Amino acid sequence: MNNVNKNKSKKSEKLSSINIANIRFNDGFWNQRIQLVRNEVIPYQWKALNDQIPDVEKSHAIENFRIAAGIVDSKFYGKVFQDSDVAKWLEAVSYILEYKKNPELENIANEVIDLITKAQQSDGYLNTYFTVVKPGKRWTNVRDCHELYCAGHMIEAAVAYYQATGKRKLLDVICKLADHIDSIFGPEEGKKRGYPGHSEIELALVKLFKVTKNEKYLKLSKFFIDERGQQPHFFDIEAVERGESEKKHYVFNLFDYSYNQSHVPVREQSVAVGHAVRAMYLYCGMADIAIETSDEELRDACKRLWENVTKRQMYITGGIGSSAYGEAFTFDYDLPNDTAYTETCAAIGLVFWAHRMLHLEINAKYADIMERTLYNGVLSGISLDGKKYFYVNPLEVWPESCDKRYDKKHIETTRQQWFGCACCPPNIARLIDSIGKYVYSKGNNEVYLHLYTDSIAEFNLLDQKVTITQNTNYPWDEEVNISINCEKPVEFTFGIRIPGWCKNAVLSVNGKALDLSTALEKGYAKIDRVWNNDDRVKLFLSMPVERIDANPELRNNSGKIAIQRGPVIYCLEEVDNGTNLPDIILPARSELNAEYDKKLLGGVVTITGDALKTDLTLWKGDLYKPIDIEYNTEKIKIKAVPYYTWSNRKPGEMLVWIREGC
Ligand SMILES: [Zn+2]
Repeated sequence: MNNVNKNKSKKSEKLSSINIANIRFNDGFWNQRIQLVRNEVIPYQWKALNDQIPDVEKSHAIENFRIAAGIVDSKFYGKVFQDSDVAKWLEAVSYILEYKKNPELENIANEVIDLITKAQQSDGYLNTYFTVVKPGKRWTNVRDCHELYCAGHMIEAAVAYYQATGKRKLLDVICKLADHIDSIFGPEEGKKRGYPGHSEIELALVKLFKVTKNEKYLKLSKFFIDERGQQPHFFDIEAVERGESEKKHYVFNLFDYSYNQSHVPVREQSVAVGHAVRAMYLYCGMADIAIETSDEELRDACKRLWENVTKRQMYITGGIGSSAYGEAFTFDYDLPNDTAYTETCAAIGLVFWAHRMLHLEINAKYADIMERTLYNGVLSGISLDGKKYFYVNPLEVWPESCDKRYDKKHIETTRQQWFGCACCPPNIARLIDSIGKYVYSKGNNEVYLHLYTDSIAEFNLLDQKVTITQNTNYPWDEEVNISINCEKPVEFTFGIRIPGWCKNAVLSVNGKALDLSTALEKGYAKIDRVWNNDDRVKLFLSMPVERIDANPELRNNSGKIAIQRGPVIYCLEEVDNGTNLPDIILPARSELNAEYDKKLLGGVVTITGDALKTDLTLWKGDLYKPIDIEYNTEKIKIKAVPYYTWSNRKPGEMLVWIREGC
């Protein structure tokens, strides 16, 4: 009995995440980062939101709520979406509270919630910009003014706070806001057939539906999804009602509704276009509706868009949105390394979307991208001390060119303490401290393990408590030891992800090796058996240093390779390798060695090897000369560090894609 399921293929049930409260992190990679968010990032960002950090761009976000609440008489300051910074921070706080009680932090959160409550208008409306600055102009420009976007973030915060504390105050405020929005927008006579210029509320309303069970919120989300891009175009109608020409003045001087993905109805979309963060949040909402309503047409649209993003328009780091102009996708295979936009929020959005795609259709290809993006394009957005942030995450940096060239002025060469547009810092905080949601998914009698991390998780399966413990120093070590504990024997399917990057994985159950050629189903080794207390699963994931080639269509990477070990992408930094990094040639036969350095950059595996660099003394100052028969190169040692750790030491150059030689 209890043998591995070899041929039986059961239809998967609806999957869900486990609660943050049900997973504890031990002393591993993600625990370090969760502790950083709890101890450093949240208090730091609270100061930033209250303008208590000297010499940084002003936030004014909390003050705006005080003004809207009538507590102080002052002027609104900031972007039209400034409220969303407070909402995302509050959501991040909620995840901390769900993980562990913290009365001091909860008191601060309650004060913020009181402020939000006072800033709400009697009809449920909640937005400090319009309340303070343009009270008569509510809902007149949902294309550009982010009212629905801010509402979405408020809803996410309220749902998270309710789930963490059981307290309804903010949830009630937010239901009143959602009811107000429902009275304004919808297909019914007299309502606006509008939808947000910046998606976000769609996914938030599905969260609200899940906690309240109120179908109205699901229906409104579906309306926003399906109305997008229909003709006559709502943004034209709205512009005319504002007294503007319908085709005049659009953001970034573009007049193209692909910017906010409203160029055609979403069900007809196959190629990711426009503002990358908007696209990610929209696709999340589409996936949510597809899951909740079993909508196959919408699921197919999500799958088409997924294939386009991840096979045509994504950097090796999981960064997306290659153009600063419009913060946007451009076209297939256009992925320049040194002008990339790759906003931290867009990578975060890709993680959100990948997680939903897993629940739409269990397949490790989604978890592979989720992992790639987490360890690389997301984590590069925050410094190791948690107090500095990148908005833009390029894959090649020459600081002087970023300082002096107009077309690189979006690139900061060191992380910043805060931003006038501070969407990324609280976004990364809420993702890191909710990472527990991304480790497993469960159905009634199946559990999927997506992310390897030292942790203990509790599940209720078939009315029984099951504990799954992972012991590992992943992503640095190749071994993951898993133990299953249960009071009585319990039968369930345990799907263990075998990462796509891993060419040699070995899995055993209680010492007996599993034949992965038969047990692997859509990237998961599926073990269907009766589990007994203290059953052991051992996983070995071979992590040789890999040279990664790029599709020849990626012309910016022609003749170059990137270094990857496990899920981690590496880069060269000036501090280790000198200047003019693009001149370095890594011979194909040069051996690359991986070594853990616990003192460097919080503890990382570094990669070292022999490489070549031009001997400049032979150039005598010439700008051009005929090539010599002899190579004018000298041998050097290179040292690569994880991409996410760059710019935590001395400022300088950085390079991911390295010239390959023979
Ligand atoms: Zn951002």
